[in-house]
Amino acid sequence: MAEVLVYVDHVDGAVRKPTLELLTLARRVGEPVAVALGGGAGDTAATLAEHGAAKVLTHEAAEYADYLVVPKVDALQAAVAAVSPAAVLVPSSAEGKEIAARLALRLGSGVITDAVDLEAGDEGPVATQSVFAAAFTTKSRVSKGTPVITVKPNSAAVEAAPAAGAVEALSVTFSAAATGTKVTSRTPRESTGRPELTEAAIVVSGGRGVNGAENFAIIEALADSLGAAVGASRAAVDAGWYPHTNQVGQTGKSVSPQLYIASGISGAIQHRAGMQTSKTIVAINKDAEAPIFELVDYGVVGDLFDVVPQLTEEVKTRKG
Ligand code: FAD
Repeated sequence: MAEVLVYVDHVDGAVRKPTLELLTLARRVGEPVAVALGGGAGDTAATLAEHGAAKVLTHEAAEYADYLVVPKVDALQAAVAAVSPAAVLVPSSAEGKEIAARLALRLGSGVITDAVDLEAGDEGPVATQSVFAAAFTTKSRVSKGTPVITVKPNSAAVEAAPAAGAVEALSVTFSAAATGTKVTSRTPRESTGRPELTEAAIVVSGGRGVNGAENFAIIEALADSLGAAVGASRAAVDAGWYPHTNQVGQTGKSVSPQLYIASGISGAIQHRAGMQTSKTIVAINKDAEAPIFELVDYGVVGDLFDVVPQLTEEVKTRKG
């Protein structure tokens, strides 16, 4: 069976969920070989093996932390040379997309970004994308060289699939460009204790209907009862009620959770562009004609100041 490289996104050896989702998709198109780089790379092996990695190629070097993406591209290029994979899968983060683009250029192949599904095809892996503000779904494949595909978080389930996970050291020679851009400082964002917006299984968002920064407390309370991330429409962000890092949409973040709850959001096309691939969409809006109701699975016509706190209480009661 052909091997499929999976780029491992990890923090000091703790594998992030989108990588485990990639392993689920990788198993559909070949035998997953994970590539873990940087400090703690070796510590990823057990988790990766539990989720289907037949092999884990590791390389630890200070360059991965000290410089931007080029050392990682060098390492993936070395892994491609060593394995000749059927495809390279990378999580669709900002960094992942930069790595993918640079790698495809080096390989003289093509790149597909923000895939939401992946299947085996007669002529190589076929990726599904949601395009034009999610008005269309397309299927495509890379027709030249080794396909490089980035996949959006929450596009596949995390599945237990025990495999060998044999650890092998990857041999990497860094290019002259690798040390061209040095990281001079890192400032961790203040933690809210909530999941990362783009990776969260549940997102609760508020819009102009929330009517004030202080009222976002009720959106946060619902999010916390569900273990969800908080999102916001651009109207809410532009009004200064919530940070831009939480904006969902065309000029914000693209999310694809299992459940998206939109409160006081009308459903403008630019907002839909960032959330329309969510698996289940719920909207709470006092205007029964609001466009958001065209795409919801469940709609509540009502005042969010009545509905959201009741929903929060109900969730808490059911959780016991
Ligand atoms: P509104 O459209 O004003 O809707 C507010 C809704 O709240 C209404 O439907 C109203 O009925 C409801 N409401 C009011 N009070 C209550 C209540 N008490 N209870 C329940 N419901 C209530 N927008 C984004 O979100 N993300 C983007 O990334 C983005 N990018 C853009 C890029 C460009 C180039 C442009 C031109 C626009 C972009 N926009 C984006 C803006 C977008 O067009 C809309 O203006 C914006 O999404 C509207 O936000 P909203 O739904 O919160 O506000």
